[in-house]
Amino acid sequence: MAYHFPEAEPYRIKVIEPLKITSRSQRQQILKDASYNLFNIPAEDVYIDLLTDSGTSAMSQDQWAGLMIGDESYAGCRNWFHLQETVRDITGYQYILPTHQGRSAENILMMIHLRQGLSALGNMFFDTTHAHVQTKGGIPRNLVIDEGLDGESNHPFKGNIDIDKLEEHIKNLGREQVALIHVTVTCNNNGGQPVSMANLRAVRAVADKYGLPFFLDAARFAENAFFIKLREPGYAEKSVKEIAREMFSYADGCTMSSKKDGLVNIGGFLALNDEANFRQAQQYLILLEGFITYGGMAGRDLEALSRGLKEVLDESYMANRIRQVHYLGNQMLAAGLPVFRPIGGHCVLIDMKQFLPHIPQLEFPCEVFCAELYLDSGTRAVGLGQLAFGGVDEETGEILYAPLEVVRLAIPRRVYTDNHMDVVIRSAIRTYERRDSLRGMKITWSPQVLRHFTAHLAPI
Ligand SMILES: *Cc1c(COP(=O)(O)O)cnc(C)c1O
Repeated sequence: MAYHFPEAEPYRIKVIEPLKITSRSQRQQILKDASYNLFNIPAEDVYIDLLTDSGTSAMSQDQWAGLMIGDESYAGCRNWFHLQETVRDITGYQYILPTHQGRSAENILMMIHLRQGLSALGNMFFDTTHAHVQTKGGIPRNLVIDEGLDGESNHPFKGNIDIDKLEEHIKNLGREQVALIHVTVTCNNNGGQPVSMANLRAVRAVADKYGLPFFLDAARFAENAFFIKLREPGYAEKSVKEIAREMFSYADGCTMSSKKDGLVNIGGFLALNDEANFRQAQQYLILLEGFITYGGMAGRDLEALSRGLKEVLDESYMANRIRQVHYLGNQMLAAGLPVFRPIGGHCVLIDMKQFLPHIPQLEFPCEVFCAELYLDSGTRAVGLGQLAFGGVDEETGEILYAPLEVVRLAIPRRVYTDNHMDVVIRSAIRTYERRDSLRGMKITWSPQVLRHFTAHLAPI
């Protein structure tokens, strides 16, 4: 039976944030001043900001009201107890540690489990998690199923980890050489693709067989749960909360970036079942983040998070969320744009190798498209291609090509209307229609690391 999506938003607007309308010639100047890198543009000069869905959510009246009951006591504030109860209720995990963002939860988890030379096995490690494994001397290994890397495969759960590869790696490396398994739900790196319940159950069986700890990166746990409801037999009648609870039940704990499915602008947590690891984590938390009942968050922010975690499990919210993301992607697909399928939970990916085949990767087709989209409609997107992930091998001087050349349009939660989506769709279609006239770019200045954030570019 097909799911009955709502026709429009299950909320109305009480407070508005005015957006600046700029002219094309103003945007031309703004782009030039920013050296054609959209990270360098002041946010106020952006009309529709699809740079990221991280920390960009709109809060509800209940969350804003919650800020007023923020208790800013150093130890044992009431909002901490609210948050602890909410997270225990949703995840079933016993021990909760608040952190200022997801990455500090990852850092603490990896400090506990990783040692020099040990491997961490996952579907696809988010970049900060990848780095936190590496800084402990560990080796992150991405074992997503092959379909997960194929932009045309319609597999319903392209975030799944390949169970055969997982077991092979444990056998080949040796159990003692593996520190942990860490599965990201939904899988951010390939566009918010979900992981099935059957897959999580299978990972649990492997973890038990070899005695390995298994954690979730739960940044988009609720979006993942909703996809299970839509696509996995046996879950259509279950609530998003029940499904989420079952997902968490297969793992030993989770890291969480509350900036996504926490529906807040800052925050995170680490949740664990193992008491000894929890005691150790508490020591790191105090050292790195703050006391164990606030961990780098204000009392009011703990309250907003506690309330956001309940709201994200509301099915009418979630159905509308996924409906809107899919509306954006499916309208572009219908117009013939090379969009990755199926559309994921939080973003739309456009393949620039197909969109701009005449622009070589070394002339940054992603950045060409992003500049053109901004010029056309004031929309900000982000390139995930050669500028972000390619480079030059320092020892051999050989050029390293990024595996994908895609532009990401990430949708903030509860922020934009479908009218905004229509602006983006029309703008992308116009850009597609004049794609043959677009020319490549070159780097005029770039830093040594993470160059896409600050590099300067210029049209060739
Ligand atoms: C954003 C994100 C993180 C890191 O969280 P921060 O709150 O930005 O530190 C980790 N994993 C995934 C999947 C994410 O999307």
